[in-house]
Amino acid sequence: MSGTARYDLPEADDFTRPYWDAAAEGRLLLRRCGDCGRAHHYPREFCPYCWAGEDRVTWETASGRATLYTWSVIHRNDLPPFGTRVPYTAAVVDLAEGPRMMTEVVACEAADLRIGMPLTVTFREAADGVCVAVFRPGQGQSSSRTQEPSAVRR
Ligand SMILES: [Zn+2]
Repeated sequence: MSGTARYDLPEADDFTRPYWDAAAEGRLLLRRCGDCGRAHHYPREFCPYCWAGEDRVTWETASGRATLYTWSVIHRNDLPPFGTRVPYTAAVVDLAEGPRMMTEVVACEAADLRIGMPLTVTFREAADGVCVAVFRPGQGQSSSRTQEPSAVRR
């Protein structure tokens, strides 16, 4: 097997290019249907709920807030580059806008993971200019009322 093969990088096409461009800028994009009003992820040209056409479905920037639906701590994955990254936490999260998303939880010990815990999107640069949305514990500005006054945002 070639030592350069990687299984963690997207292949952007004309349709998904806006998603990956936004990710490189630290923004998570969703698709929202103008007919039924529902958001979905992963991005599809047609609304998966009411089948409205692509002229009715538009990109929008997600809040980045989510809660943890379920997860699995991966201890072995022979596909590069995951083998160098174990253990890691593969997860399914519920975005605040409604869609459920497969992702990874970072910066959290496995013992601290809880169903329903609040998460915030962050981005990992998987390759030069290619950023992948992952989630870390906590929620940002919208939950600032619960933060200690001395808490420093990084
Ligand atoms: Zn729809």
